[in-house]
Amino acid sequence: MNLIAGDWLAGESEIENRNPSDLSDLIGVYAQASRDQLEATLDQARQAQREWAAYGLERKQAVLMSIGNELMARAEELGTLLSREEGKPLAEGKGEVYRAGQFFTYYAAECLRQIGENADSVRPDIEVDVRREPIGVVAIISPWNFPTATASWKIAPALCYGNAVVWKPANMTPASACALTEIIARQDIPKGLFSLVMGSGSNIGQRLVESPKIDAISFTGSVPVGKGIAASAIQNFTKVQMEMGSKNALAVMEDADLDLAVTLALGGAFGGTGQKCTASSRLVVHEAIHDAFVEKLVAGAKAMKVGHALEEGTQMGPVVSAQQLAENLAYVELGESEGAELACGGERLALAHEGYYMSPGVFLNTRNDMRINREEMFAPLTSVIKVAGYDEALSVVNDTAFGLTSGIVTKSLAKATHFRRNARTGVVTVNLPTAGTDYHVPFGGRGDSSYGPREQGKAAAEFYTTVKTAYISAGPV
Ligand code: NDP
Repeated sequence: MNLIAGDWLAGESEIENRNPSDLSDLIGVYAQASRDQLEATLDQARQAQREWAAYGLERKQAVLMSIGNELMARAEELGTLLSREEGKPLAEGKGEVYRAGQFFTYYAAECLRQIGENADSVRPDIEVDVRREPIGVVAIISPWNFPTATASWKIAPALCYGNAVVWKPANMTPASACALTEIIARQDIPKGLFSLVMGSGSNIGQRLVESPKIDAISFTGSVPVGKGIAASAIQNFTKVQMEMGSKNALAVMEDADLDLAVTLALGGAFGGTGQKCTASSRLVVHEAIHDAFVEKLVAGAKAMKVGHALEEGTQMGPVVSAQQLAENLAYVELGESEGAELACGGERLALAHEGYYMSPGVFLNTRNDMRINREEMFAPLTSVIKVAGYDEALSVVNDTAFGLTSGIVTKSLAKATHFRRNARTGVVTVNLPTAGTDYHVPFGGRGDSSYGPREQGKAAAEFYTTVKTAYISAGPV
């Protein structure tokens, strides 16, 4: 059911949600909201937002804290549900739900830290007070790859700064969306402050982003959909924030700790079955360490245990859907046709349960101008690009239309420092994976990876609030 204007309602149709680890496992059927329901909930959200903004700070804080604590306490149960519908190994599913809880507890505290600025006017005897106010009704459109965490890092700051939320989650992961909504709906919030409108992106999602009844849109997903949303938003001057794909590179220098480099590459490339916007899909490797690195990388990829997300020992689950699997296999063919050497994996696997399984694939002898190194694949596939030195490595890392994350593995402080300052990405890591970020600091990218203000930490206030400048003349005493 959807949460429409504060009530749980059946939709105009339903979709099936099946476990990608075991297609015989039907998780449930989920309601698709109608356009009338969307309109009704948008009207109620406007009213509820005013009430919520007028709540005392501690009352808002208590709501966010309660959501966060419940998510953390139920990480095992909700993480199991998440892994069952999305396909990531159970430890990753549980970790995601726990992290989602931390977003809420972090922003609970931020409710009390909304401190403005003040200044003297350039005119005599006048003071200036600058403070932030809520932006209004926020549309949140989230993807399936981190169904709970990505939604939470948008919902928590939206509520913290006094906004109403209309959430359209990905249709691929409705169970996690319902579970989170059920927790939020039970809190001390005005009726209709938070809405869940499940439905397809092209129908209900498109209608939502075109609506003049919303004040801001926060989106995570693909570049083409992001471009369409931005074009719709500008018609109403709706504020937008978008996180999209990337083609993140991990540079491995000749002085790198070899085992560390291989561990970072394997985790970064195949964690979450490669379905992460921060995945290490290009491994830019110094020629002096190349052969030793590749040998261990390929051995590591071959040794990875692919299996049912909920089974003990599984290191990599299935990909999320039949469509994603078909696209991944097409990229394997494309890579080979471009002249890349497939050293291992990249094949569909038949396991005990019927699911969307494939083996982790490593391409060798690739060039940065190949399509497999230009386009986001969102697959358990990674490419090795051999380079002659640090300067070439940096230029290959930066030669991309995207710019979300990048990393370097080196023992040289000089190279690490130069890389940190010259990599053209929103996030840069040193001797750490390209994936995996904190919640109290900004997250976002450059180029085609992001558009609009950064997410997370205090940076989120930039998007979820609007600034008001007040001039005060107290008059003579
Ligand atoms: P999409 O961009 O299609 O989907 C992301 C979200 O946007 C979903 O909730 C989707 O709804 C919704 N949506 C789709 N079309 C519209 C629209 N016209 N108006 C409003 N909302 C819309 O990504 P996919 O899930 O289809 O994945 C495709 C590719 O996108 C991946 O292979 C990957 O390359 C990239 N991607 C990147 C992510 C990242 O973290 N940066 C996350 C997910 C995908 P619904 O799916 O329910 O139709």
